[in-house]
Amino acid sequence: MSYNIAIDGPAGAGKSTIAKRIAREKQFIYVDTGAMYRAMGLYFLRNGIDASDMGRISEKCMEADITIAYENGEQVVFLNGENVNGLIRTEEVGNMTSAISVNPDVRKKLVELQQRLAKNSDVVMDGRDIGTCVLPDADVKVYLTAGSNVRARRRYEELAAKGESCDLAQIEKDIIERDERDMNREVSPLRQAEDAVFLDSSDMSVDEVVEKILSLCK
Ligand code: C5P
Repeated sequence: MSYNIAIDGPAGAGKSTIAKRIAREKQFIYVDTGAMYRAMGLYFLRNGIDASDMGRISEKCMEADITIAYENGEQVVFLNGENVNGLIRTEEVGNMTSAISVNPDVRKKLVELQQRLAKNSDVVMDGRDIGTCVLPDADVKVYLTAGSNVRARRRYEELAAKGESCDLAQIEKDIIERDERDMNREVSPLRQAEDAVFLDSSDMSVDEVVEKILSLCK
């Protein structure tokens, strides 16, 4: 049986930083499900499909082949055979992604892929619906959050470090809007699973959060 750790939470809560560290410590595979949804978002942006056109999205998502592989422990996402890792971390893709990820056909396709990965390997998986929907029987479940101002500042620093021009107030506005949509959609909304441990990282260091989660695995 594989060992599964599920980490859910809103945008910018630090899920991927924490999940990567835990995966390294435990020699598990890190599965970034947001990157899979982002690859799908990129596909629709490129094809000029309107995010509100549910019928077209259901139909076209069948043509987007999303796969992942691991290179030096890093997850690489392929969209129809193309490595899109360097193209999916923009705010434009993030906003499109949150809009199209309400679509049940998009979700069904990606959830199947995620469940397959977790069945075959020990994983740390992060996302929005991992503890509630993708891996309801995960060994450890964490709901990781932080204040929206803290999350906006983290995202701002991440983008600024990559040399992307950005505006802090706009990022906070986008984050609040994105969370709102992720929490209120009909299919698999972002919620804390009943058996998940709640962690607010606003005043915690990365080390403290990692330690806490590792202690839950014991
Ligand atoms: O985590 P990240 O910001 O990369 O995710 C981008 C978007 O993908 C989220 O805002 C959310 O709408 C969607 N997503 C999702 N379910 C997941 C992971 C991400 O709906 N498990």
